[in-house]
Amino acid sequence: MLENLKEKVSIANKKLVKLGLVVLTFGNLSAIDKSRNYVAIKPSGVGYGCLKKEDISILDFKNNLIEGKKPSSDTLSHLELYRNFEGIKSIVHTHSTYATTFAQAKMPLFCLGTTHADYFHGKVPITREMTIEEVKENYELNTGKLIVETFTEKNINPLEIQAYLVSSHGPFVWGESIEKVLENSYILEEIAKMNFRALTLNPKISPIPQYLLDKHYFRKHGKNAYYGQGELE
Ligand SMILES: [Zn+2]
Repeated sequence: MLENLKEKVSIANKKLVKLGLVVLTFGNLSAIDKSRNYVAIKPSGVGYGCLKKEDISILDFKNNLIEGKKPSSDTLSHLELYRNFEGIKSIVHTHSTYATTFAQAKMPLFCLGTTHADYFHGKVPITREMTIEEVKENYELNTGKLIVETFTEKNINPLEIQAYLVSSHGPFVWGESIEKVLENSYILEEIAKMNFRALTLNPKISPIPQYLLDKHYFRKHGKNAYYGQGELE
């Protein structure tokens, strides 16, 4: 069942290691099938080196395991994002060094340059601290709820800002495809590295102006995008 999806999710999880985004078993990638009925996710605690297609966990949206090994402990966070963010098809969570450094410093990633603006239409936000109740019970579900809560409250479009820093924890990143979420995760780490260095050189640096942010974001995204080769006639 869903053999193609399991294969893709297995390969993509290994790619996280190749991209330098995970250490040990910190991290997981999931994706949903075309009908949006099932989620395929990395199994819990299985090393990336020995991860096989057959190990990938398949669940329905109510967290029932359909096949494969016991799923990642972060599965409920992933499910909450799929249930609330229409249009996303794949999610990555890592503890990649620079993005996690900002999460631990409790700082959002302000848009300091056009590399950021090419991918995210504004700052990558950071959650508030979780309460003792949120941590003690249903921790992973509440992590997902916390991300959804901020997007809803601040009226942010999750398709325009496809990443989030969970305070004291690390980044969650999503996208419209597995390829896209890998790219988003990689660029988020690069942006965090650039921000760290820019802030080291000049702690008083300001975000780029809105007109420059809009220019770079909308030339690559949306109906008036013109960057790249476009559709060949
Ligand atoms: Zn984590």
